[in-house]
Amino acid sequence: MGKASKEGTALLREWQKRLGLEHWRIKLVDNLRPDDMCMENVAGCTEWSESVETARIEIMDPAYYGDRITPFDYEKTLVHELLHLKLTLIGDQVETLQERYVHQLIDELARALVDAKRYTVETPPKTTRQPPQVAESGFLDG
Ligand SMILES: [Zn+2]
Repeated sequence: MGKASKEGTALLREWQKRLGLEHWRIKLVDNLRPDDMCMENVAGCTEWSESVETARIEIMDPAYYGDRITPFDYEKTLVHELLHLKLTLIGDQVETLQERYVHQLIDELARALVDAKRYTVETPPKTTRQPPQVAESGFLDG
């Protein structure tokens, strides 16, 4: 515990670059037990300090993910958390209606970006996804 997998670190570098977040100092910790994470009932969560541009991203061990509507997706979870940093200046503590809406937008953007990397218009993903319910999106990602 306390560090990221090799694959996770590589994905972090790749997406920091894609999203223009290279100047952030980000500590990634993955394969965590839910008890050791900064939020409950999430696949990933982030704590950040906006003024000094540092962050700690935590990602759950998929073994604890359980049987949920959308399957565990490490890369999408990571991109979701990185987008929180990208949008940090407009604020995203899941409190007000606006902030919940920002959170939902982040999730849709994360999925779109990861899909754009994995698939082309000619070869779309095999399954079509349902947009998540607001409550569920809060449940799945921090
Ligand atoms: Zn989120």
